[in-house]
Amino acid sequence: MILEATRPGTNHENGPEFNPWLAAEARFNQAATLLGMDDGLQKVLRTPTMEITVHIPIQLDDGRLEVFTGYRVQHSLARGPAKGGIRFAPDVSIDEVRALASWMTWKCAVVNIPFGGGKGGVICDPALLSQNELERITRRYTAELIDFIGPERDVPAPDMNTNEQTMAWIMDTYSMHKRTTVTAVVTGKPLNLGGSRGRPAATGRGCLFVTLQALRKFGIAPADAKVVVQGMGNVGGNAARLMAEAGLKIISVIEYDGALYNANGIDTVAVQKFRAETGSIVGFPRAEPIDKHQAMYLPCDVFVPAARENVIHSANAHLLNAKIICEGANGPTTAAADKVLEEKGIFVIPDILANAGGVTVSYFEWVQDRQGYFWNEQLVNERLEEIMVNSFQDVVQYGEKHKVHNRTAAYMLALDRVAFAIKLRGIYA
Ligand code: GLU
Repeated sequence: MILEATRPGTNHENGPEFNPWLAAEARFNQAATLLGMDDGLQKVLRTPTMEITVHIPIQLDDGRLEVFTGYRVQHSLARGPAKGGIRFAPDVSIDEVRALASWMTWKCAVVNIPFGGGKGGVICDPALLSQNELERITRRYTAELIDFIGPERDVPAPDMNTNEQTMAWIMDTYSMHKRTTVTAVVTGKPLNLGGSRGRPAATGRGCLFVTLQALRKFGIAPADAKVVVQGMGNVGGNAARLMAEAGLKIISVIEYDGALYNANGIDTVAVQKFRAETGSIVGFPRAEPIDKHQAMYLPCDVFVPAARENVIHSANAHLLNAKIICEGANGPTTAAADKVLEEKGIFVIPDILANAGGVTVSYFEWVQDRQGYFWNEQLVNERLEEIMVNSFQDVVQYGEKHKVHNRTAAYMLALDRVAFAIKLRGIYA
C-alpha cells in the first residue's frame, strides 16, 4: 500500500512549497545571506532584467482561430547573453519561467560559461497540436520576440516538449527577418543546420561525469553502483544509457505511467526501443513491473530524478534510500525537502551543476557557429568532461571550505560570480 502523502504531487501540490519561484527565492536568500551580500545587490541579482509576455494568434488546422500565451524571461545579462530553453506545456506559468530563467543564470555561472540566464515558455498542449500548428506557434512566438533575441542578446534552446525541429524553425524565422542566415541565434539545432555533435546526449553525459566523481568520493566502483533513473526522455534516457555503458547497473527506470525493476540491471536501450514501438515502458519483458512511487524509494547508490519538478518534497524526502542524488531535471527537489535530505546525509548533486552539461555543449555550439568551424564529437565530449569535473570539484571544495551542503555551495559560488560581474561593470545610470 502506498501512503497518499508519499505520492509525489498529491498532497499539497498547489501550496507554496511547489511554487518554483518561491523555491528559487529560498535558495537565493540562503546563499546571499551566507555570502553577507548587501541588500541592494541582492535586489539587483534576484530581479529579472526583462519579462516579456506575448499573445500569439494562430489559425488551427480546422480553420478556428486560437490565441496562445508565451513568455520569455531574461533573468540576467551580467555575464553575457541570456541563455536557456523554451518549453511548451499546458501548465507553463510566469512564475515557473522566471524561476527557470534564474536557475539558468546560476547554472551558467556554476560551470563558468559566458552567459546570463533566460527561459521561455508557451502555454499549449503539444499532444493536442499537429506539426503544422506547432510550427505556426513557434514561428509567430519567434517573430514577436525578434527584437529581444539574437546571438549577442538571448540564445534559446530546447526544453520540455521542444526539440531540434523547433530550433530549426526559430533559426529560420529569425534569419528571414534579418535577411541573412543566423545560426547562432539558437542552440540544440539539427547537426546540418549548425548544430553541435554531442549536443543531444550532453545533459545525460554531464550527469554521468558528475555521478562518477561522486561515486569516487564514496569509494564506490562504477561496476558496484546501483542506479534508479526517473524519466526516460532526453536527459534520463541518455543518462541511463551512458551510465550503463560506463558499467553502472540501472536497477530501475521510472516513467509517468509505470516503472521497471531488475536487480541484475535493465537493458535501457532495449527499453527505449520497446517504448518507441509500444508507446510505453509498461510490459517490457526483461524486467519486473514495480509501483512508480515505490521505485523512487528503492535502496540504491544513485537516484537520478530526470523527469519533472517537485518530485522530492517534504512529505516523501524521508523515504529516499539513495546515497547520491544526481538532479537531471530542473528543480526536482523542493526547498523544504533540502533539509530532510541533508539530515539523511544524502549527497545531492544539485540541478544547477548536475544538468549543466546541456547548456555547456550549447555554449560549444554557439562558439562553433560563430567560428564557422565544427569540432568532432570526441573533442566536444572531452571539453564537456573537463568542465563538468572541474565544476564538480569547485562546488564540493567550496562546500567543504564553507561547511555548507552542495546546493548551497553551488548557489554561493554562482551568486558570487554574477555579483562580481555586476560590480566590475557598475550600475549604468
Ligand atoms: N533547457 C536546458 C537547460 O535547462 C538547456 C538550455 C540551453 O542549452 O540553453 O539547461
